[in-house]
Amino acid sequence: MSKIPYKIYLEENEMPKEWYNVRADMKKKPAPILHPGTLKPVTVEDLAPIFCEELAKQELDDTTPYIEIPEEIRNFYRMYRPSPLVRAYCLEEKLQTPAHIYYKFEGNNTSGSHKLNSAIAQAYYAKKQGLKGVTTETGAGQWGTALSMACSYFGLDCQVYMVKCSYEQKPFRREVMRTYGAKVTPSPSMNTNVGRKINAEFPGTTGSLGCAISEAVEAATTQEGYRYVLGSVLAQVLLHQSVIGLETSTALKKYGIKADTIIGCAGGGSNLGGLISPFVGEMLRGEANYEIIAVEPASCPSLTRGKYAYDFCDTGKVCPLAKMYTLGSSFIPSANHAGGLRYHGMSSIVSELYDQGLIKARSVEQTSVFEAATTFARVEGILPAPESSHAIKVAIDEALKCKETGEEKNIVFGLTGTGYFDMYAYQSYNDGTMTDYIPTDEEIAKYLSNLPKVD
Ligand SMILES: *Cc1c(COP(=O)(O)O)cnc(C)c1O
Repeated sequence: MSKIPYKIYLEENEMPKEWYNVRADMKKKPAPILHPGTLKPVTVEDLAPIFCEELAKQELDDTTPYIEIPEEIRNFYRMYRPSPLVRAYCLEEKLQTPAHIYYKFEGNNTSGSHKLNSAIAQAYYAKKQGLKGVTTETGAGQWGTALSMACSYFGLDCQVYMVKCSYEQKPFRREVMRTYGAKVTPSPSMNTNVGRKINAEFPGTTGSLGCAISEAVEAATTQEGYRYVLGSVLAQVLLHQSVIGLETSTALKKYGIKADTIIGCAGGGSNLGGLISPFVGEMLRGEANYEIIAVEPASCPSLTRGKYAYDFCDTGKVCPLAKMYTLGSSFIPSANHAGGLRYHGMSSIVSELYDQGLIKARSVEQTSVFEAATTFARVEGILPAPESSHAIKVAIDEALKCKETGEEKNIVFGLTGTGYFDMYAYQSYNDGTMTDYIPTDEEIAKYLSNLPKVD
């Protein structure tokens, strides 16, 4: 066997032509999403006023294993994919570990993260349906940036409701979006009923993700020819993100490498779900076994400390309900939390896989995450996003365990993006002012006591 190169690239013709829908191989499927008014499982017709029709179909399809990636989307993927699977030789050397560490790097595009994989798909289906444009929310700004790029490629109008504090703190993210032609509005705004109401109730509020979602949904449903799109959590997003796992699987096979441990950070679960899907598929079909670890912040621990129950996907309670590991839809991580991954719930697919014991979860504190990020940046050259650094932290922990046991494990993790727009967070780490906050059991119980009653 030839020496494994630093970067394993695929040829264009080795890129996936179909996405993989892991739900098709699950014997026990994720619970259906429910209509917020009737609490009955939603139909494509229920979703059609909010979502593009083809995306609504993908959302509800839990039986078709492979779904063709349209040629137009594959052409766009070719501009920045295949993404490299990197052998972290320098990190291994630094840690003096016998483990072999690989990472799939999704930060090689202007949006700086994996979110473009789904943004381009969602923009394509909106365009194909003849829509004028789409609306969305963005917190830290990665999703808004990715969607702006995708919409400009297909000539669609893009309206982004950006959480006001991010709008003010991350002016350059905002300008990237505007450069791609998006209209960026700080949320809560005075454009929508829900925005005006929140502004009246909480004067001077700097907004929240849940509030921005409610504004974006209202904007979509009150303008002719617009639909709402979402960058994580949904089954359709995990489907599009399966391109990450499919490429990883092909790259590993090319060199005869069998992954032992696969690690991903988990916010809404889309990169993790996409990375692990083909591997979980092998497990579900009884072909192979892997140890899979989802990593979340200790300050927003939905898998490790949340409850598996139906909950609202947004604070405004306008979106469908999903059965998922949740901290309650009014949960907001403490103000000192700088590392992203702040969603209160988790993809219903990832939640069900976790509940079935197919994947594990671990929570980590943010100072240890930034410590791992710094180690990684110094030896591997890439300045990682704080979100991605949760996976780095656990990959390093696992590699150090191998040092004790002498195991030559193959560890694969998802490096979802770069952190150039997160330098305030790095600054507080470098200044030594970053702190950790772990919610108490009482706090979590309080948020969970407001879960909707569904049975
Ligand atoms: C959005 C984002 C995440 C978290 O989202 P998931 O849906 O859980 O993947 C992780 N890393 C980066 C760089 C992101 O932008």
